[in-house]
Amino acid sequence: MHYAIPTLDRADHLRKDDDALEQMFNDSQTRFYPVYQGDSLIQPNEPVPVSVSICKPTNLDISRAIFLGLDNTTACFAFSCSEYTVEQLQHIIDQAPNDSKFVNLRTIGPLLNNHEGSILAYAKALTGWHDTINFCEHCGSSLTATGGGHVKKCPDSGCARLQFPRTDPAVIMLVERAATADSPALCLLGRNQNWPEGVFSTLAGFVEPGESLEHAVMREVYEESRIKTSNVRYLASQPWPFPRSIMLGFIATADSTDIQIDPHELEEAHWFSAEQLKDFGTWGDESDGPKLPRSDSIAHYLIHHWLDSV
Ligand SMILES: [Zn+2]
Repeated sequence: MHYAIPTLDRADHLRKDDDALEQMFNDSQTRFYPVYQGDSLIQPNEPVPVSVSICKPTNLDISRAIFLGLDNTTACFAFSCSEYTVEQLQHIIDQAPNDSKFVNLRTIGPLLNNHEGSILAYAKALTGWHDTINFCEHCGSSLTATGGGHVKKCPDSGCARLQFPRTDPAVIMLVERAATADSPALCLLGRNQNWPEGVFSTLAGFVEPGESLEHAVMREVYEESRIKTSNVRYLASQPWPFPRSIMLGFIATADSTDIQIDPHELEEAHWFSAEQLKDFGTWGDESDGPKLPRSDSIAHYLIHHWLDSV
């Protein structure tokens, strides 16, 4: 699964060890991954681009560095340069290999290998949190980063609340109908008007407070398509830091067949057979016909899992 390869040891015990953090921060072998307004530093090599880490920038303070973990024995930090001046940003780019540039992970992600994509997704998620959560939600004081950048603490002694990076759960589900004497097995795919022309994907939505994941699946499918479902089975998950979700992938069985889309959510939705899906193009290609979702998405994984099962 893209963005979910656990090859980096998060080394949680080191986050609490200030001496170890400082030693790693100052180690010349340590890798630093800069993120600028959500964009990752990559080198557009052929045939595949690669992520780029740099040496510790001279203007980086340890309080702004986020300890990601250990890649074998090499420490990895991320840091946000979203607030940097043009000169400071150029200082970062000057330390990177030729032609390196900041690129949106959503556009480059499918081309990166999974190890690098996973590190950049992790770095993007944490720097995004640092960019947006700067004040105590209780008393409004400016927060101070601690725990290797994984915790923010209110400095007000009467408050002293801690905040942690937040991940928003979203369910994404392939709804299936078993084959009958009159029809092959079918799956429900819809398209959002904001997607590229022709792209169809599995339905998805955020989990609401006070509901289980299974009920979120059934509710979202019903809200978007008026299809009733049951037998909701968990399959896989994927971190999706755009900006801070985790996608929880399910298969569900349809208990009804007539689709009525919610036009606020979907432009269209249909039942598709495996035979029809085999003729689909893929997100980003130039074909005119219907297309499958992005190759780095869990939706793509769910659809291929279903195709393998029918
Ligand atoms: Zn506070």
